[in-house]
Amino acid sequence: MRTNDPELGADLLVDFLNTLDVEDGVDAIDDDAAFTAWALAHSVEPGDRASAKHVRDALRAVIDGEAASLPSVELETTCGERTVGLSARTAAEAAVASSVILSIQGKLERVRLCGADDCRWAFFDQSRNGSRTWCSMGVCGNRQKARTYRAKQDDGAALPE
Ligand SMILES: [Zn+2]
Repeated sequence: MRTNDPELGADLLVDFLNTLDVEDGVDAIDDDAAFTAWALAHSVEPGDRASAKHVRDALRAVIDGEAASLPSVELETTCGERTVGLSARTAAEAAVASSVILSIQGKLERVRLCGADDCRWAFFDQSRNGSRTWCSMGVCGNRQKARTYRAKQDDGAALPE
């Protein structure tokens, strides 16, 4: 086994989806240096930026329950003792391989985009009932918490949204 195989799974997929930062209007894939750094940090090659962006946008649509067609990517297969797996060379391949693995595990539906329209940050929902709507980081969680807190202070119970 190669030592620098990317770690495929929810973390990689979520990070890849978040190369688009809706709130700040920043797309890391648009920036050669930023995307190369992203790829390096995830043990993959950046690959072609245009197709990475295409795959990223298609995956965000899929995650969000929209109709989308996913561009084909070439995935390597790996095998070990009684195991068969997927391997990936580029960022887009790694993201698709992660999505395939999560789909098979029935966990892809736990990858979500934050419900706030100005945020749309991707996250992996690890809550027991799988009903998380807001990202855990940044303003949305805090905003939501502050709202709930204020509501509790006001009348002793959280108000419905
Ligand atoms: Zn959010």
